[in-house]
Order: sequence, then C-alpha cells, then structure tokens
Amino acid sequence: MRRSTARLADGREIIYFDLDSSRPQPRLDDPRDLGPISTASEIRYDALLDEWVAIASHRQGRTHLPPTDECPLCPSRNGRQTEVPSQDYDVVVFENRFPSFATRLDGAEQPAGTSVPSPVAVEDEIFARGPGLGRCEVVCFTSDHDSPLSKLPPEHVRLVVDAWADRTLELSELPHVEQIFCFENRGEEIGVTLSHPHGQIYAYPFVTPRTRRMLESARRHRERTWRNLFADVLAGEVADGARIVLSTEHWVAFVPSAARWPVEVHLYPRRQVPDLPALTPDERDDFARLYLDVLRRMDDLYGLPLPYISAWHQSPVRVDRDLSYLHLEVFSVKRAAHKLKYLAGSESGMGVFINDVTPEQIAASLRGQSASSLPGQSPS
Ligand SMILES: [Zn+2]
Repeated sequence: MRRSTARLADGREIIYFDLDSSRPQPRLDDPRDLGPISTASEIRYDALLDEWVAIASHRQGRTHLPPTDECPLCPSRNGRQTEVPSQDYDVVVFENRFPSFATRLDGAEQPAGTSVPSPVAVEDEIFARGPGLGRCEVVCFTSDHDSPLSKLPPEHVRLVVDAWADRTLELSELPHVEQIFCFENRGEEIGVTLSHPHGQIYAYPFVTPRTRRMLESARRHRERTWRNLFADVLAGEVADGARIVLSTEHWVAFVPSAARWPVEVHLYPRRQVPDLPALTPDERDDFARLYLDVLRRMDDLYGLPLPYISAWHQSPVRVDRDLSYLHLEVFSVKRAAHKLKYLAGSESGMGVFINDVTPEQIAASLRGQSASSLPGQSPS
C-alpha cells in the first residue's frame, strides 16, 4: 500500500491510498480556484437528555445529487476538475468542504491548547454551547462511480479498512477529538446526496450518546461478573446460533436479539479489540471477505441494492478502551422491496423501536433459508 498526502486549493487535507505502489504518483497540486471554507459549526448541550447536538447551518448549501458527469468524487479527467485532482485513485480521503465539525474554524487553524472552552468542561450549565471542533472526512471507496463497495474485490475492501484504521489513528491525535466514527450511508432512501461510492468519518469532540450508554452497561456488567459484556453477547449468539448469519475464522455476523431495524446485522471480531487500528492483517483480510458476503446477502433479500447505514463502533480515544469492543452495525430502513420503515411516533417521539419481523426470520433469510419468511411478505 502506498500513502500520499497533499492539500486541496482551500487548504483541506487529501490522502491517497493506493494498492499498487507502481501506479503513477497521484497529482499533489489542486489547480482549482476555491474560496476559503466557511464553517460556523456549533455544539449545544441538551441538558434534559445529557447529549450534545451539532448545529451546522452552512451545510444547507451543499451539493445535492449532481448528475454523474458533475460528480465531485470522481477523479479529475478530460479537463473537468473535481474534489480529487488525480486522474485515478484506489481509495482517497479528504476533508469535507461542508463539515459538521472542523478544526479550522472560519478559515483559521485552531491551534492546540487555545482558550476555546472545552465542551466537556461545562456539563453543569443548562444552556452550554461550544465550537463544533473536530473533523469530517469523505472516504471515496473507488474511482469507479458505478461500483458500490459490495462489488469491489476483497483486496480493495481491505484497502478501505486500512484507510479507516489510518484515519482513526491520525484523527485521534487531534486536540478536542474524543471519538472517531467511520460510516457509510448508501442509497437515496437514507438521504445520500452523492451517488459515488463513498463513506464518511466524523471525529467528534465528545463521546457519543450511544457509545456512552453501551459503555455504562458494559461497566455495570463487569462490576457484576468481571466479564466483558460485548464478548458475552457474542458468546451467547454463537451458542444459540438462531441469529447467526455467517461466521469465519476471525469474525461473526449475527442479527441482534433485539434488532430495531427490518434488516440489521452486527459484525464482531472474535477477539476483543478497542478499534480498527488494533486489527491484525489477517483479521482485516477476513473482515473484507465476510463484509462483502454480508452486503451481497443484503442486496439479495429483495433483489435490489439495499439502502443501508453501516456504522463502526470504536472505543473512545481517551477513556474506557479496556471496556470497548470494536464492532460494525449494518442496518436498513427497507422492510420490503418497495416499503420503507419510517421513524414515526414511538421511535422518534419516545425512542422505542417497533420491528415488524423477528430477528430469527431476518437471520434465516440472510442465511438463504426459508425464502417464504422474507421480511415484509405479510401484507401491512
Ligand atoms: Zn463519481
């Protein structure tokens, strides 16, 4: 793997990851004339829920579903300049021009240790606010506009894993960053604004609410049993077997017992590791094969590319690394070929999910058994 870094015309960082180091060097200058990035991102504290909310009003102007010949994530070819100056690439990562979190606020680099109030230091104030410090990056999985991640060869997906791990390590070094979230939104149903195969990485200035809750549960479990909660969940799923979709030497994919979504699969390494950088080369290769298999099974469910959200759960940067257990959660809002699950009253108003299919049915369908139990076959 070859890694090359450069700056875009407005100062944003871009990093190329190439499988074949004999391919021509990527173009490191950016001939475009770009204005400075204007970010006015802010975080506000919700004292009732004990959560931070990011307010990023500048994102309203971002590019929305441009035609393929204006795709900003394709390589720059035939005189058309995109966000990626090179004529070709395998995997490329760059800072989002419309970030929800940024270390460079209003065009000025935010140096470490300045007097910006640390967002976590004001937790006893009801109306606390802070700057939206952190970073948002775009990960282009391939230069081929029409090849989704699920159609890439395993060695290419392995390169994506290496890019995620690289970014996790580097973003962990940024001041104020407390958690790194690598994810992919796929499909217009999920609200994707660019169809080019890509994911994103958010470096948050706080530990996210879901991670905090999981770690609090894991802490209580450890106090009671001296064991790791995530490892016990995995062991329980393996012992039961009814919700296992696939398992390999290093990974297990299963539908969780309390699945919230009509299609939901969790992928756990068999070994407890805090984050992606901690995975061995063998575990990364094995993950690439397993993930491709899971994604293809998800696409086969309704015979259509399934819209999905794929979310990596990594340890916070500074705390609870011993409690955390890296895993990936992949889920879809699609409950039948032409039906979406909406987050309506119970889900959005109260946070209580109602799932129309049993997790055991979903797992059987994904294993390729009992086609008659496909989710959404019953009229509703
Ligand atoms: Zn494209």
